[in-house]
Amino acid sequence: SDAATTPDAVRLGDEGTPPAGDLLSKFDALIAERQALLDTGVRDPYAIVMEEVLSPTAAIISGRETILLGTYNYMGMTFDPDVVAAGKQALDEFGAGTTGSRVLNGTYQGHRECEDALKEFYGTSSAIVFSTGYQANLGVISTLAGKGDYIILDADSHASIYDGCWLGNAEVVRFRHNSVEDLDKRLGRLPREAGKLVILEGVYSMLGDIAPLKEMVAVAKKHGCMILCDEAHGMGFFGEHGRGVFEEAGVSDDIDFVVGTFSKSVGTVGGFCVSNHPKFEVLRLVCRPYVFTASLPPSVVATAAASIRKLMHAGEKRAHLWKNSRRLHQGLRDLGYTLGTPTAQSAIIAVIFPDQETAVGVWQALLELGLYVNMARPPATPAGMFLLRCSLCAAHTDEQVGQILEMFATAGRAVGCIA
Ligand code: PMP
Repeated sequence: SDAATTPDAVRLGDEGTPPAGDLLSKFDALIAERQALLDTGVRDPYAIVMEEVLSPTAAIISGRETILLGTYNYMGMTFDPDVVAAGKQALDEFGAGTTGSRVLNGTYQGHRECEDALKEFYGTSSAIVFSTGYQANLGVISTLAGKGDYIILDADSHASIYDGCWLGNAEVVRFRHNSVEDLDKRLGRLPREAGKLVILEGVYSMLGDIAPLKEMVAVAKKHGCMILCDEAHGMGFFGEHGRGVFEEAGVSDDIDFVVGTFSKSVGTVGGFCVSNHPKFEVLRLVCRPYVFTASLPPSVVATAAASIRKLMHAGEKRAHLWKNSRRLHQGLRDLGYTLGTPTAQSAIIAVIFPDQETAVGVWQALLELGLYVNMARPPATPAGMFLLRCSLCAAHTDEQVGQILEMFATAGRAVGCIA
């Protein structure tokens, strides 16, 4: 590719002499491992720059038009004309940012309207918007479960869930990924009268598998726990109203708190928690990641509200996203790839490789052909896996899905990992 437009891998600081007592020396092994990989001549999978973004499914990378198959833009809302117009109008009318916390000068009309849109979307009495989904998990989990309480979570939970546990100082108990039996067993060992929060995710984002929520919720309720469900990757296209996997599983009445994000199906940035708990609003006073940070810019909450309202009527897009997901899954399986799930369970299709070299080799071959996918590695992935994570968009055309499969065939054969 063209050297002038190729972003060089960011140097991690292997030049010069570090100061005495260097606190960064603990990362020397990681720096060396990464350098060894780059020395084989591959591009840095974590230093990609989108020079231009043409649509929800295409961008210019290293001067080349590239199909995007590694975004969380599931419903293709980033370029929706109504969403963009709402953002522009708010930027003009309310300015670039709030410069303040939600509890002081940072709640504008738009934040309220965004929370109203969420309440309508989820059919709940309360909705609180945070600056990111990460902060929503950090804040809600650490505020609900503190010292002396128990948090019971799936071993494959997202980093923001783990970080929320540590911030709150609760006792953390992990159960085997998606194992109803292990959840039941571990809950049975906890003190009956202790406060207990079970945390589940609708879709697990590394392998794209979904949780057996009906069975897990029944077990959690049997043991007297409250339940929080993270629907970051389920919002928009699971369930009758697109609320998430919990809606599709028919357990809406038993989930106490739903956490979500605007950075995926909604197509912007931000996080939220919705609930019917009568005292939920007290979080606005006691939840540190809500209080001690600036609120989202007016343009962002305006785009989020417009997008959420449109997602209430997105049946056709949803159907197309599912069609794309099933076709890609079947096609990759037919090519001989090892996938994270036996059938398409969500819009994430994970392609599993035996080692980092093969994964990066296929990743780079795809990029050179004009396809971007996410390269995922430990510690983000379970069981030390190296994955190429494909996430589909409702805006991918049938033609693009065909091209994607052809590129996977060419890249896999070039690297020698499929026949
Ligand atoms: N929860 C899960 C399951 C996620 O995958 C993510 C982001 N990848 C988040 C929360 C955090 O969302 P955000 O990008 O809004 O911080």
